Amino acid sequence: MVLGLLLARAGVPVVVLEKHLDFLRDFRGDTVHPSTLEVLHELGLLDAFLQRPHDRVDELRASYEGRTVPVADFTHLPSHSRFLVLMPQWEFLDFMYDEARRYPGFELWTDAEAIGLLQEKGRVNGVKVRRDRRAGQPREVELHASLVVAADGRHSALRDAAALPHISYGAPIDVLWMAIPRREEDPASTGGHIAGGRILVTLNRGDYWQCAFVIPKGGHHALKARGIGAFHREIGRIAPFLVDRLPAALPDWDSVKLLEVTVDRLESWSCRGLLCIGDAAHAMSPVGGVGINLAVQDAVAAANLLWAALAGDASDKEIDALLPQLQRRREWPVQVTQAVQRFIQDNVLMAVLDREPPDRQAPLPLPLRLLARWPLLRRLPARAVGLGVRPEHVRSPDARR
Ligand SMILES: Cc1cc2nc3c(=O)[nH]c(=O)nc-3n(C[C@H](O)[C@H](O)[C@H](O)COP(=O)(O)OP(=O)(O)OC[C@H]3O[C@@H](n4cnc5c(N)ncnc54)[C@H](O)[C@@H]3O)c2cc1C
Repeated sequence: MVLGLLLARAGVPVVVLEKHLDFLRDFRGDTVHPSTLEVLHELGLLDAFLQRPHDRVDELRASYEGRTVPVADFTHLPSHSRFLVLMPQWEFLDFMYDEARRYPGFELWTDAEAIGLLQEKGRVNGVKVRRDRRAGQPREVELHASLVVAADGRHSALRDAAALPHISYGAPIDVLWMAIPRREEDPASTGGHIAGGRILVTLNRGDYWQCAFVIPKGGHHALKARGIGAFHREIGRIAPFLVDRLPAALPDWDSVKLLEVTVDRLESWSCRGLLCIGDAAHAMSPVGGVGINLAVQDAVAAANLLWAALAGDASDKEIDALLPQLQRRREWPVQVTQAVQRFIQDNVLMAVLDREPPDRQAPLPLPLRLLARWPLLRRLPARAVGLGVRPEHVRSPDARR
């Protein structure tokens, strides 16, 4: 969607395909980081964006065995937005769509699933699309394009269709995802809770908490075997303020979704006529909540690289020659981010999950003690999470100006 907006804004005709009828799904995470807010600022959209319902986070806190510690302070970032925004992703996508539709070259097809690639003389020149399946009138159409961009997430059908090889790093964790009503008297802040060998992340979505309960990979079978009541007790141990509402909010396992975590990266992000970006090129772990922002950064870099060729009369060969440059620019930030995510998964999260629940208050781990003691140190995680490695800036033009 972000790339669609940027290209349409630069005068390139674009069709964005979305396999669902709308954006209204809750499995995508909520964080909009300062790097993405900076992109919105550069597009002149930041003020309008902040009119949408959101939660503003100046400081991230973690709760460890009942003690709350500030871990990241965004208020000193070298950026126009020295805070993180929590906004459900459907709201973010809806906002971007509202902007994109102002440009005559932009089209969004919903209920339109890309199911295969079209090729001519070994070059991708479009996609096969199954339309209106959810509306009950499925039909297949061919959509031709001078460039296909696969931004279809970590189970990308298009990267599979192109048989692009990938390196899979696996992941030792999965996430159980559920909504629990929020009350006025609840603590307001979004954050992570670690207690009794368990990890829970609570995202404040106004009248409910979107909760992510981290488990060892495959651990949901054992959890389910112990029954939903035992699961309520586990959550209650970490976040006691939730305990009385759990039987009504999570009556059975149908109200708890399993989200499988994967981390991988394509060896080559492109082939002739096709470019992969976001999770389709590099599936991100939820650690740090940075995957959405990396996908946005890829989109900004792709628009910077490609707009002139796509808006002008570049040949297919000239377009293809540009594609590997995106990987050259973005692979390093992705590699660094994935390495940090994998380190945290393997050494921090698994250390907590593998541990027997302590029978007394465990001492704060050294990194949390340092962050609690030295406010200046909290600027480092804020910078890593908020701006990341190599933030991109909008260089593609607005063709209306
Ligand atoms: C449990 C969990 C929690 C996470 N939490 C966060 C978080 O809080 N913050 C954060 O930044 N990152 C988070 N991440 C990572 C983040 O979700 C991804 O990195 C990010 O969503 C990638 O964006 P994307 O646009 O590449 O792919 P996606 O967000 O997956 O979007 C792909 C889109 O393509 C559509 N689509 C898929 N296939 C097709 C098709 N064949 N045809 C047409 N449309 C199709 C999908 O419906 C979807 O709209 C989390 C990941 C996990 C697993």
